[in-house]
Amino acid sequence: MATGMILGAIRKRTVLVSASQFLFLSTSRFASTLVIAEHEGGVIKAPSVSAVVAAKSLGGDTPISLLLAGSGPSLHEAASHAASCYPSISKVLVADSDKFKNPLAEPWAKLVHLVQQKGDYSHIVAASNSFGKNVLPRAAALLNVSPITDVIGISESHTFVRPIYAGNALCTVRYTGANPCMLTIRSTSFPVPKNSVDSKSNEAPISQVDLSTFDEDLGRSRYVSHTSQDTERPDLGNARIVITGGRGLKSAENFKMIEKLANKLGAAVGATRAAVDAGFVPNDLQVGQTGKIVAPELYMAFGVSGAIQHLAGMIDSKVIVAVNKDEDAPIFQVADYGLVGDLFEVIPELLEKLPEKK
Ligand SMILES: Cc1cc2nc3c(=O)[nH]c(=O)nc-3n(C[C@H](O)[C@H](O)[C@H](O)COP(=O)(O)OP(=O)(O)OC[C@H]3O[C@@H](n4cnc5c(N)ncnc54)[C@H](O)[C@@H]3O)c2cc1C
Repeated sequence: MATGMILGAIRKRTVLVSASQFLFLSTSRFASTLVIAEHEGGVIKAPSVSAVVAAKSLGGDTPISLLLAGSGPSLHEAASHAASCYPSISKVLVADSDKFKNPLAEPWAKLVHLVQQKGDYSHIVAASNSFGKNVLPRAAALLNVSPITDVIGISESHTFVRPIYAGNALCTVRYTGANPCMLTIRSTSFPVPKNSVDSKSNEAPISQVDLSTFDEDLGRSRYVSHTSQDTERPDLGNARIVITGGRGLKSAENFKMIEKLANKLGAAVGATRAAVDAGFVPNDLQVGQTGKIVAPELYMAFGVSGAIQHLAGMIDSKVIVAVNKDEDAPIFQVADYGLVGDLFEVIPELLEKLPEKK
């Protein structure tokens, strides 16, 4: 009798929810997202800002913490910039140590593991660039969860769209594993809105990550050196215009025409894997399935056949222009403007007609 009364009292105050609602409530109640971010020159790198945009679309009010690591003044400048300029960031976590001075994935993965143990985030997001692709799966292994990579769409907090078969099909994936749900996102699919950088009235708090329990052992990895191209051209992953050369250029010497054209247009230079394998340019210029994914406003391809693995990296470009002497080249099937012609005639003509960049 007493039990029945208690149950009755409880029932009056209990809101019954369906199983799916319960799953949603139980996963969203403490929803919070950690974005793993890169910085350079005192600001957050563009792909990491796209990761914040993706994190925002996981759920309107979900708090977003940004994790930055490194050492020196530029780390703290980047933290202040993130805290004051991005309205969707609610907290900035800073791991200030020489251990993160070099871009090694091992200490970063351990850092993410440490931060997750303290923060119990429901989601961890990073950009799907070489940094994110290196760090996130290692961190996921330490946390014993399966990451979802290359996400291009977020339907709801645990349902994502990602390409498969070199971008020939899209699949919708529902994450049903334990927290955290770990994602790498394609930055080209989460463009940064113009108003996303804004001085906000309330700066997000910045806190230091307690590294007293950090395990410094790097295992078999060792930092050797870091080289990067010294160029004033825009970064390939974020450029508004990309000029790409393929095997049709025939030599590294001829490939300089592509560079000249890019300089005139203020564009980034891209290359096919065949051009990279032939030694025309270094492999950090490779666009495609096993290279960089780009989606510029204008993509110009010279002497590129349009193999499926190349298309996987540039198909989302807004306007595609192709120059190829073979009218049956597959690149023409995706090109908005196609010119059947010899690139050794077309590029010099373009160089002559285009004005010098101011
Ligand atoms: C697992 C895997 C991953 C891969 N990942 C990538 C990747 O990330 N990126 C990538 O690009 N490829 C990738 N590839 C390679 C891909 O399959 C193609 O081999 C490569 O993209 C071809 O490069 P290309 O178009 O420069 O060369 P080709 O296919 O040799 O095409 C050269 C083109 O130049 C044209 N041409 C020649 N001379 C002239 C001229 N004078 N004027 C105008 N046109 C001319 C020809 O008509 C031809 O269409 C991958 C392959 C595999 C198996």
